[in-house]
Amino acid sequence: MNRFVLADPDQCIGCRTCEIACVIAHSAGNPFISPDDEFHFHPRLKVIKSFGVTAPVQCRHCEDAPCANACPNGSITNADGSILINSESCIGCKTCMIACPYGAITMVPEYRDGRAVVQHGLYTNVSGRLQPKERMIASKCDLCEGVEGGPACIGKCPTRALKLVEPDLVQARVEEKRAASARQLLHMTRIPATGL
Ligand code: SF4
Ligand code: SF4
Repeated sequence: MNRFVLADPDQCIGCRTCEIACVIAHSAGNPFISPDDEFHFHPRLKVIKSFGVTAPVQCRHCEDAPCANACPNGSITNADGSILINSESCIGCKTCMIACPYGAITMVPEYRDGRAVVQHGLYTNVSGRLQPKERMIASKCDLCEGVEGGPACIGKCPTRALKLVEPDLVQARVEEKRAASARQLLHMTRIPATGL
């Protein structure tokens, strides 16, 4: 079973520290001391603040991942208990974005060594001049693959609202629910017959 990061909305205060931790974990240097035109803030989880709830939303690393099923390029695969996007082969078609039931995928410009990657053969018209168009790719939580001590968002959350849900934890919760259901059955069988 795949792992995933889950937020407790009762503990989340909407500070967006998790977003910052995510961006830093996926940046080569410190993005916050970059010149303005090189500053890229594309967190792989998004804090949602609405009337009833405040919590970050991120990829659930679904077992039968709709994004992977929908990708026409085979760019989304399961590796070592997580669902990953291959940025090299992604063509930015957005099919995965539409397929994701959680809205956990966004399209972002691709950067290499801090610079936007331009797309060969595609130009954009800027004030009457053709300029190379930046390459856009799908992006989502990768559980901080390759980042020491990751996922980074969990450790940086000041209220401990985030946790890594491992298969063992899911199994333990299911067992608890089954035990509660069994107790309920016992109670129901003790209800005297009404004769109806
Ligand atoms: S860091 Fe924690 S408290 Fe702050 S927005 Fe993220 S989950 Fe919520
Ligand atoms: S945007 Fe990329 S990862 Fe998503 S479906 Fe298209 S090719 Fe696949």
